[in-house]
Amino acid sequence: MKTLKIIVAVVLVAGLVLAFGACGKKVTIKEGVLTWATNAQFPPYEYYEGDKVVGIDAEIITLIAEKLGMKAQVEDMEFESIIPAVQSGKVDVGMAGMTVTDERKKVVDFTSPYATGKQVIIVKEDSPIAGPEDLEGKTIGVQLSTTGDLYITWDLVDEGLANIERYNTGADAVQALVQGKIDAVVIDNEPAKVFVSMNEGLKILETEYITESYAIAVAKGNTELLNKIEAALQELIKSGEVQKIIDKYIKAE
Ligand code: GLN
Repeated sequence: MKTLKIIVAVVLVAGLVLAFGACGKKVTIKEGVLTWATNAQFPPYEYYEGDKVVGIDAEIITLIAEKLGMKAQVEDMEFESIIPAVQSGKVDVGMAGMTVTDERKKVVDFTSPYATGKQVIIVKEDSPIAGPEDLEGKTIGVQLSTTGDLYITWDLVDEGLANIERYNTGADAVQALVQGKIDAVVIDNEPAKVFVSMNEGLKILETEYITESYAIAVAKGNTELLNKIEAALQELIKSGEVQKIIDKYIKAE
């Protein structure tokens, strides 16, 4: 009987220790730091100003971190590395003008959307391509692993209807278009505007390819962090701060 009591006591104490351990558990990989993965080649959402990553996402995540009593720390990487980095716990979140898709939802969790994006088509000013239907038989440039890549692959390449060239950055795809190596670039509308303004002789077609929502990715199962970020994001949306940041970078047409 005595042994049983001792065993029960030991189990109880062990349980308490575990429970306390769980309470003190860090929600992020570095205490007090919210590490966010991005690909800082995506203006106006994230890009370099000197050696600093700035842009819409950089400002929103900084405010979210502040609300959580943390500091935001950026990890710049290839776009296709962001989701694996979130999954493996190398970073806490991914924020990169990242579109919510059903495929991605299978491997990471997303907050509610904080912005809307559109996939648009960039062509040379004198291009015969006037809309998505004219992409058949053409060579289309995209940024590797982005939704532009996924849609063109599914809709055209897999059907044997067009060729695709995948680049590490949107800027590289646009350079290839300028040099006449490809016929069009499919990419998100805001970076498209920036890239077109930086190069002569390009235009964005009026008919967009698809409209999408951007959200922040968190590792599956890290509900505590997801809920915290979601709550902070909702406060920032309600207070108008998210819109203020978007308006600062995206001027009304
Ligand atoms: N919105 C696109 C996607 O999620 C592109 C994002 C990006 O290139 N940073 O795939």
